Amino acid sequence: MQDCLFCKIIRAEIPSTKVFEDDELLAFNDISPASKTHVLIIPKKHYDSLREVEDSKLLGAILHRAKLLAEELGIAEAGYRTVINTGKNGGQTVGHLHLHLLGGRAHGWPPG
Ligand code: AMP
Ligand code: ZN
Repeated sequence: MQDCLFCKIIRAEIPSTKVFEDDELLAFNDISPASKTHVLIIPKKHYDSLREVEDSKLLGAILHRAKLLAEELGIAEAGYRTVINTGKNGGQTVGHLHLHLLGGRAHGWPPG
């Protein structure tokens, strides 16, 4: 059993505001939103980061879920951003693979 923040959220040992759940994925609101809409999409199987994943079907499912949730949450027409931070230079702070879905405001480029 993983002693990991997001694994604890999956096991409901830590509360979260769920947006979507199926057998392989969970999506919930970020506790410290960087945009009006800020959802995290995670696999239920623990991976430390994108570096550890070879399962292209799972990676496709995460991105596809981001696209579907963007439509459902009403941010798709105006546009949105999807981000996966990986490792120290990527700005990753939680060691369980997650995709950020951000919308509801304009996001500049480069992100800084
Ligand atoms: P990252 O910096 O890419 O690793 O993103 C980690 C994200 O997890 C940050 O945006 C945090 O605000 C978010 N986060 C940390 N703890 C929680 C929590 N308990 N519930 C929801 N989101 C969290
Ligand atoms: Zn985990």
